[in-house]
Amino acid sequence: MNFIQIPEGMETKYFVMDEHALKDVPELLNTAFPGKTPWIIADGNTWNAAGKALSAMLKTQKEAKIFPAVPRLHPDNSICDELAKEMDDSLVPVAVGSGVINDIVKRASGVAEIPYCCVPTAASVDGYTSYGAALSVDGFKKTMPCPAPYAIIVDLSVLKTAPADMFASGYADLLTKVPAGADWFIAESMGYEKRREDVWNLVQKDLRKWVREASDLYHVFMGLAATGYSMQMYRDSRPASGAEHLMSHVWEMEGLSYKGEDVSHGFKVAIGTMASVKLMYYIIDHSFEELAPFMEEPETREEYEKRVDALLVKGCYGPAKSVAMEKYFPVDEMKKRREKMKEIWKQLQKDMKNQLFSVAEFEELLKKASVPVLPEEIGLDRNQYIHGILTAQLIRKRYTILDFLYEAGLLNKAVKEVL
Ligand SMILES: [Zn+2]
Repeated sequence: MNFIQIPEGMETKYFVMDEHALKDVPELLNTAFPGKTPWIIADGNTWNAAGKALSAMLKTQKEAKIFPAVPRLHPDNSICDELAKEMDDSLVPVAVGSGVINDIVKRASGVAEIPYCCVPTAASVDGYTSYGAALSVDGFKKTMPCPAPYAIIVDLSVLKTAPADMFASGYADLLTKVPAGADWFIAESMGYEKRREDVWNLVQKDLRKWVREASDLYHVFMGLAATGYSMQMYRDSRPASGAEHLMSHVWEMEGLSYKGEDVSHGFKVAIGTMASVKLMYYIIDHSFEELAPFMEEPETREEYEKRVDALLVKGCYGPAKSVAMEKYFPVDEMKKRREKMKEIWKQLQKDMKNQLFSVAEFEELLKKASVPVLPEEIGLDRNQYIHGILTAQLIRKRYTILDFLYEAGLLNKAVKEVL
């Protein structure tokens, strides 16, 4: 068995990855979950991709739970509660599937308080190895707390059979760690969240190697797994997500679809990445002094609230208004923050430039991986695209390039000029 090293202190204790690792699953289950009866949970597609073959290899098992392939399973928290009722200490749930199946089983086994095993069928997300599951709760997307898989076993030949779009989406999600790293520099330089070295290195040290070749499944999965670990370690998605993810959340909450299908997470964050990186270069390419004459006057609380209400008028963004209002700074405070920006500007330009590829390189990497780079390729018209970017600044506490530009009084100008 090709065991891959796991950073210390993780909830995940076993990670096996190999060209034909499916055949190792029974032995791994015996080793990692002695005496437990496996229970495969899959959907119609992932059952055919790996579940059926795995089931045939198991001596004893609880009859597999197979969700229909069509309509596509939605990651709803209520499904998890139902599954959890069927889980007891004699079982080991085995999630055979991509992000949605894994999130559902992760949460269900978390509720049931039993460890589970993950057998991914696509290199489509970084959530396999992360703490928490992205689920809909009463119509709103939330990260529900639950432990990461105790064991994960990756068969590369299975991943190869996944639809090309899923792999493209996973690659795009991995590439977001580049601008997400730059966002962490921005936050740190403004006095928020100092970068934690072990967490930072886990994602950033080998990131360039992992993203170099989009067709290199092994390295892309390594990168996605490492990102998941970093979130286990940090108990937050900061190491893996910046402004590009916030934009994607806005479009997701608006129910963005293209040609009748939900747009994948990876494709949304890819469009976010292109926007985010262009905005970052707006800072990199201009000195503070050059831009100072164009900085808008800080908003009064009334002006701010009016703008927030207008951006959130669709009402589909959960408790975004209260988050947005907490982010307001009075005019005097805002002026002080601009002084701070002036002090840190040059160093920040350097750090961001070291962290990022050029805009053209990002575009080339994404295109080579068959990932969309234009808003219209995922069904965003100009209004929804720009609205998503401006709204992304309000919906979470996480400090990103969007907050930096907003506080500098440059967000509108930058958006107009570079997007
Ligand atoms: Zn992501």
